[in-house]
Amino acid sequence: MINNIAEIKDDILMSIKDIESVEQLQTIRVKYLGRSGILTNLLKDLKNVNPQDRPLYGKLLNDTQRFIEQNIDTVMEKLLSRDKLLREKSESIDVSFSKITAKRGALHPLTKVKNEIINIFIGLGFSVEEGPEIEYTKYNFELLNIAADHPARAFADSFYITNDIMLRTQTSGIQARVMEKQTPPIKIVCPGKVYRPDADATHSPMFQQIEGLYVDKSVSLADLKYTLELFAKEFFDKDTKVRFRPSYFPFTEPSVEVDLSCAMCHGKGCFLCKNTGWLELLGAGVVNPIVLENCGIDSTVYSGYAFGIGIERATMVKYGIPDMRLLFENDIRMLEQFK
Ligand SMILES: [Zn+2]
Repeated sequence: MINNIAEIKDDILMSIKDIESVEQLQTIRVKYLGRSGILTNLLKDLKNVNPQDRPLYGKLLNDTQRFIEQNIDTVMEKLLSRDKLLREKSESIDVSFSKITAKRGALHPLTKVKNEIINIFIGLGFSVEEGPEIEYTKYNFELLNIAADHPARAFADSFYITNDIMLRTQTSGIQARVMEKQTPPIKIVCPGKVYRPDADATHSPMFQQIEGLYVDKSVSLADLKYTLELFAKEFFDKDTKVRFRPSYFPFTEPSVEVDLSCAMCHGKGCFLCKNTGWLELLGAGVVNPIVLENCGIDSTVYSGYAFGIGIERATMVKYGIPDMRLLFENDIRMLEQFK
């Protein structure tokens, strides 16, 4: 029996030496100290031992029981503290870890300016009309009194798809389409992309326009000036002045170039206005009666005015941008300034 007990001590030390989990250790505890455990059974057998030997064996078994408990407890503590560490490590938050952030988007400056211009005219009673970017020459030219021998019709000045289908060079085709199907009063703005084969610091093969048209009884150049002044004061500031210079467009008669007092230098002269104090912003005029008649509107009853603003030009003037190409490069450093 003494040999047995010595073996039990060796066995227990061997089996807990490489133990990996609390569960395995519990199994060993049950194997030795459980209700039918090896040591429990030896203790039960004590009553069969010779009475004079019984105290010695009893003491030996009790010592062994304590030995097993102590060893199991020591290993148990190690396993529990190891598990706690692992748990803490997996649940911990590294506060020094750099934050992953999504950059917030913003509208492109051209879109912002376009929306701003549209909203000003909506406030003045205009509605918004759109039309096709691939247009018949009839709407882009003929109905607008641009004759076949007009310089703008030379093939080099437009992108043609067939002889009578082209990328529109202006949004005026929308005006012709609306006048054709609607009786006055007509009060519309037509925003959209237009295409011309030009490319330099102030021209791009694709740019955006917003054209306005107001046709009703007794609409005059004075109405045009009043409307554009209201627009300019709203778009720039309330001190902005408007100047008309005589010009020529086939679809308006009389025609004017509209200049606004420079928003940057207030007329003193700067790089933006090329030291003139004035910014050329748009072309306008009273709708040529021929155009009204071409579109089925009686020019003896109705008259109208029309104007066209370049969105890129308006954006450059408003924000003092010297080169139009900056607006198309999509350099994030430039775009972020308009957030
Ligand atoms: Zn200026």
